[in-house]
Amino acid sequence: MAKLKIALYWAASCGGCDIATLAIGEKILKLAEAADIVFWPIGLDFKYADVEKMPDKSIDACLFNGAIRTSENEHVAKLLRAKSKIMIAYGSCSYEGCIPGLSNFYNRQMTFEHVYIETPTTDNPGKIFPQTKVKVPEGELELPEFYDTVKTLAQTVDVDYFVPGCPPEEKTTWLALEALITGKLPPKGTVISHAVKAVCDECPRKKGEKKIKKFYRPYEIVPDPEICLLEQGLLCYGIATRGGCGALCPQANMPCTGCYGPVEGVIDQGAHFLSALSSIIDSNDPEEIQKIIDDIPDPAGTFYRYSLPDSLLRRARIK
Ligand code: SF4
Ligand code: SF4
Repeated sequence: MAKLKIALYWAASCGGCDIATLAIGEKILKLAEAADIVFWPIGLDFKYADVEKMPDKSIDACLFNGAIRTSENEHVAKLLRAKSKIMIAYGSCSYEGCIPGLSNFYNRQMTFEHVYIETPTTDNPGKIFPQTKVKVPEGELELPEFYDTVKTLAQTVDVDYFVPGCPPEEKTTWLALEALITGKLPPKGTVISHAVKAVCDECPRKKGEKKIKKFYRPYEIVPDPEICLLEQGLLCYGIATRGGCGALCPQANMPCTGCYGPVEGVIDQGAHFLSALSSIIDSNDPEEIQKIIDDIPDPAGTFYRYSLPDSLLRRARIK
């Protein structure tokens, strides 16, 4: 049987997803038996020109991690879409926008000013920002444009499957790779994970009635290791997050922050969490409710940490 041809690419992301693909351990030998990697810039010295020369749809599957932040990200996403039979948004950045997508609360100018001027370790008296053209002795170089708005992969090209996680857990990665190797693929559009229900469903902590009088940040309390973290006032996002990771964070005594994205059928993960929280605040007094809510640090960043570009909000409106 002919081997599969697989491409992997890293757009706007931290690089963790590329490392996560290697976390499949010895199963990599099974992958090597079944597939050849034909493009993987972080691992092997391929050039974009190599991909341009490939016939359309000659790659069986592309695992694309990272959001679409620059014109280069967009160009390569479109190129790999044309060359690949199956396009997989691998990891939270390509699926939902994730941490790079938080800059949708600002615009390009605000992001540049913060990164290239305001950060404490930056010394940039000439206020030089990234340019799209630069003169060098050999001529003029054209560099990628940094977009105002971060997009998901599916907002840029047609996507066949989504693999959640920041980064995806080893068993989630293998679920996707095994489906490719065996040809037993789920329906187009599937979010490939072991669970469609919430992280709470996989969480072994004792669950009782949730009534919250005060929210805490993780460093403020030492939570009971047996009882639901949300019931102890920690903002555990497991209630509004797709399972599949095995409730990793709550099992390490840390609240889930929502990296596996929304549960099946939910469009806006942040709004889902907000609505779940509003039903467990233990007060009828508007002043007290306000005081309880005021304890939530960075509400927009907390509720939309992984999903702002993919949410109904998509971005903040900047005047
Ligand atoms: S600790 Fe978090 S994941 Fe576990 S049951 Fe409570 S809310 Fe759900
Ligand atoms: S518990 Fe939540 S934040 Fe932690 S790995 Fe699972 S989905 Fe991601």
